[in-house]
Amino acid sequence: MKIVRAEYGPCIMRTEDPEWRFALAARRVSESWIVALTSDEGVVGYGCSARSPHMGSTMATTEAAMREFLSRLEGRDPMDVEDVVRDMDAQLAGNYHAKAGIDVALYDLAAKSLGLPLYKLLGGKLRESVPILRILAIKSPDKMAENALLLMEKGYRYFKIKLHGEQKEDVDRVRAIRKAVGDDIHLTIDANQSYNAKDAIRALNRMADFDIEIAEQPVPAGDLEGLKLVTDSVPMVVEADESARTLEDVAVLTKGRIVDAITLKAPRFGGIRNTITAARLCESANIRHRLGSAVGSRLLAATSIHLAVALPGVSYACELGEFDRLLDDPFEGIEIVNGSIALPSGAGCGVTPRPGALQNLTRC
Ligand SMILES: [Mg+2]
Repeated sequence: MKIVRAEYGPCIMRTEDPEWRFALAARRVSESWIVALTSDEGVVGYGCSARSPHMGSTMATTEAAMREFLSRLEGRDPMDVEDVVRDMDAQLAGNYHAKAGIDVALYDLAAKSLGLPLYKLLGGKLRESVPILRILAIKSPDKMAENALLLMEKGYRYFKIKLHGEQKEDVDRVRAIRKAVGDDIHLTIDANQSYNAKDAIRALNRMADFDIEIAEQPVPAGDLEGLKLVTDSVPMVVEADESARTLEDVAVLTKGRIVDAITLKAPRFGGIRNTITAARLCESANIRHRLGSAVGSRLLAATSIHLAVALPGVSYACELGEFDRLLDDPFEGIEIVNGSIALPSGAGCGVTPRPGALQNLTRC
């Protein structure tokens, strides 16, 4: 089997809420690139390269890197993931967002060609569905509490409260949401690097009264000493997100026990191959881990659902449901029911392009 065509095209999705924002930016649209690899048997594998400006990748930089990689794929065997990943890393350092779409498309194509769901290539499944954690974007405390109730009505039981680094307002947000949702709902917070260590310790200790289970990335990504100080000084689980940009970062975070947990994001790490490696590093160091993703198409979420059912250490709700607030998704095949996503049936990732959604792909 060999790849006979390597193509890509843009995936631009509007958000239902144009005011959606977190501590680092506001996002009116989700943008990414879809990768399509076709084999000589006529099977097509899809991947998604998401842009993530706050992690250093724009649509333009991702496209430029992706074109370099895609132009060398024709004639290659899609089963040779390790060989292709090694070549991409030798050709151009970093650029993991661009590499992720290709890695995932290779896995999807390999699984489809074998007639197997993706998880079969990842070690098999340990669970049938994955509970989903939904993000509450930064707004006034009352508005965020109202949004939490709307999501609860849809069946969600896990929420992540976005914070902004201002103690009083942030504590007010957490208090209002806990009061609205009651005691049985799981709450986490994400400050997206907006605190310094001492302020984070003070704020998180106040938020502990409202039973916050996880505090994600309270301090700047590069402040590992500050991050460890927070981990050692607050009662809830402290989780790295932006501090875990690469496999090397995961190795440093786990070896130094700088955090209690790490959120693993395949679009950031370079795809499935590296995310599995990151999970094994966490597993061996007894560091908690779960799956997150870039905000975008069902294709991104489906990829990580397969990882979430296959990785033994994933033990908390995953952040894979933000497609539910986006419009214009070119892929279909998974939905959130009662706050969970069931493992899709079918070969590969289990999602398929909507009819006519992927016209005008560019061949490299
Ligand atoms: Mg985060």
